[in-house]
Amino acid sequence: MHELAITQSMLNLVLGQAEQAKAKRVGKINLVIGEMTGVVGDCVRFYFDLLSKGTPADGATLSFKAVPTQARCRGCGKLFEVREFDWTCPRCNGNNIEIVAGKELFVESIEVE
Ligand SMILES: [Zn+2]
Repeated sequence: MHELAITQSMLNLVLGQAEQAKAKRVGKINLVIGEMTGVVGDCVRFYFDLLSKGTPADGATLSFKAVPTQARCRGCGKLFEVREFDWTCPRCNGNNIEIVAGKELFVESIEVE
């Protein structure tokens, strides 16, 4: 269910920016979604269609850029992509790691008319 709240705040942000730009219509919204957020693009799209009805963002295209989960090993400094929640360093087999990418969730840009 958290896609609903996320979509609502994303829409508020977009509408605020559109108003500032004195735009009549929002054409496209570019979103960045980290894999770790668990946010499903299709859900966001579904809620967006519902919530944006009658606003300048009604009918806007949503574009998603997925960011894979990346971690850095604190032991050897290796950067690696985390697959299937395997948090083990592929180089030294250590598991003292930190997440460096994959938690992103933001509106990268919007295109207005
Ligand atoms: Zn390592």
